[in-house]
Amino acid sequence: MTGLNNKKILVCVSGGASAHQMPELLAVLKAQGAELSVLAAPDAADWVSLKLLAQLTGTAVRLHSQGEPFGETRLVQVGGQPSEVAQAWLDELLGNLSNEPSDTTLFLADPSAVERFPSIDQLGPVVLPTETGLPLPRFDIETILAFIEKSLTPPILADRRVLVTAGPTYEDIDPVRFVGNRSSGKMGYAVAAAAWRAGAQVTLISGPVALSPPTGVALIKVRSAEQMLSAVETIIGEQEIYISCAAVADYRPAQSAPDKIKKGADQMVLSMIANPDILRRVASRPASPFCVGFAAETVRVEEYARGKLASKNLQLIAANEVGGETGGFESDQNRLELFWPGGRKLLGWSSKREQAQQLIAVVAELFAARD
Ligand code: C5P
Repeated sequence: MTGLNNKKILVCVSGGASAHQMPELLAVLKAQGAELSVLAAPDAADWVSLKLLAQLTGTAVRLHSQGEPFGETRLVQVGGQPSEVAQAWLDELLGNLSNEPSDTTLFLADPSAVERFPSIDQLGPVVLPTETGLPLPRFDIETILAFIEKSLTPPILADRRVLVTAGPTYEDIDPVRFVGNRSSGKMGYAVAAAAWRAGAQVTLISGPVALSPPTGVALIKVRSAEQMLSAVETIIGEQEIYISCAAVADYRPAQSAPDKIKKGADQMVLSMIANPDILRRVASRPASPFCVGFAAETVRVEEYARGKLASKNLQLIAANEVGGETGGFESDQNRLELFWPGGRKLLGWSSKREQAQQLIAVVAELFAARD
């Protein structure tokens, strides 16, 4: 389950071409556990089947006429190019909202709405990105979901600048071979997304992974440990919190061959040299950010994690047991154990999304108590 479980969401369906995505959006919101009510513009039925929407949501769709009170507080409004009727209705809806700001979160498909009703600016409307160049405007449903979840998340890291590293690093042997760590990047991406939902300005520096960029996060892609270090060092001075989830390769080939190495002898010896410890360098800077490390351990988890916490001079470390049947690699589930000087919190098994959210809650608390 996501953060939408049991959340009450009013979805306003304006007439217009982008109503074609409403069944999909409603089905996804429903599947995430949201309690939906649907308010439709007077001519919405010309664009999408209200019967279908009712079936998908298991709730009656309220066809709204102009002049009726709106009465609800939380709003998702999606509609790209509204029809004339829907436009008049939307204008009334937006005018109404701007007069009575409540705990509404307003999602706008049409940025010109802010120009027409400058006062809705105080509601902090989220203008959704639209994919253009298609026969019909399209919104990315995942992006909409992410924004809705953000609007429902307490902003415990509001405007904090957070840097997250994620994924493995690949250290090239030659143009077609590399050595690297096992890491799907899922935990780090979930941490970056959770920090964004909590209101932070997040940069994610990622090694090679097969994941989509999280919504709202500035993504910098790198390959090797040295590239990751250089990307981190370029922006670390502006960061307040550094969360190092990356599985950085400890060693790299002493030389990377310019051409593919031909097989020949029965044995091949690869000479390796140590990579820089990025987290250690960051944590030992004179004005270091709040530093969070990860420790993937197979045995004696707390002992080794606390050892790294102290030796790398970190504020918090998240340990997880890897290997065996239940290890966190590539899995969508994890169980983190958080250790900090004078404290600990052991999380139960849950999705990496949930683990990330709980980690961010502890980070926010410790960060606020710093100094
Ligand atoms: O590899 P180790 O267990 O020491 O990793 C602990 C923490 O240090 C992790 O947060 C990892 O991202 C970070 N690390 C790093 N650079 C390395 C090795 C580890 O930043 N070369």
